[in-house]
Formats: sequence, structure tokens, C-alpha cells
Amino acid sequence: MFNNFRNWFSRMMIGRYGVDQLNRTLSIACLVLIVLQMIFRSQLLWLLTLIILIWLYFRMFSRNIAARYNENRKFMEATEKIRSNFHDLQYNITHFREIREQNKGYHIYKCPRCGQKIRIPKGKGHIIVRCPSCHFEFHKKS
Ligand SMILES: [Zn+2]
Repeated sequence: MFNNFRNWFSRMMIGRYGVDQLNRTLSIACLVLIVLQMIFRSQLLWLLTLIILIWLYFRMFSRNIAARYNENRKFMEATEKIRSNFHDLQYNITHFREIREQNKGYHIYKCPRCGQKIRIPKGKGHIIVRCPSCHFEFHKKS
């Protein structure tokens, strides 16, 4: 019974686009909206959920794979910064203790030109810091 359904489903998905990062994000957005709807009981949220669901299924069953692929690529480009910040945040949360231990006795400075984080030992007085990524030099007290 279940196998039949699985066979039918995989036959039906032949030549169709399926799931990508954008679709995964859309389905998470749907879940969040459904939870919000339970709290706020808003018609607008319901409508929004419906629109996202239709969009999600449209993309999943689409036969225009090149167009869907392009959409996903644009989505990934547009969200690159957010995603990398999110990864940093996740990393910082999971490695909180290690990072705190490593940074004991150090100052963390940000390069004023490129934003690169630089770790300087404490208690060295006035020093010139050279950014390892853009080679910009600046004065700091450590
Ligand atoms: Zn720099």
C-alpha cells in the first residue's frame, strides 16, 4: 500500500522540479504562519499561508526546471548575507565556551577598513595593528 503510493509519487515527480532551498524555506514559512495563525487568528495570515502553499506546490510540481533553478539561485544570492550571519550565530552559540576560553587575555578589534576581526594580546600598551586581510594599519591600546 505504502510502496504503491511511493511508486506512484516517484512516477509523478519524473520531469518535475521537486524540493530546493527556496521550497524548504517556503514550507518552514508556512509552518510558522500556521502557528502564528493559531495565536492571532487573523484572516490575513490565513491568506498569506494559502498563497505561500500554492507557490510552494507550483514550484515543486513545475516542469520548467530551468526557471525554478534560476529562482532558487536568485533566492540563495539574495539571502547569502543573512544565511552566513545565521551560521556565525549558530557557531557562536554552540562554541560559546571554547570561544570565551580562547579569547581570554585577548582584545578583539575590528579592522576599520574591511571589518575583519583581529585578536590582539592584552597588556601590550600602544601598538600598531596590521589587518591580515587588507593590510590596513591602525593604532590601538591593548
Ligand atoms: Zn582590513
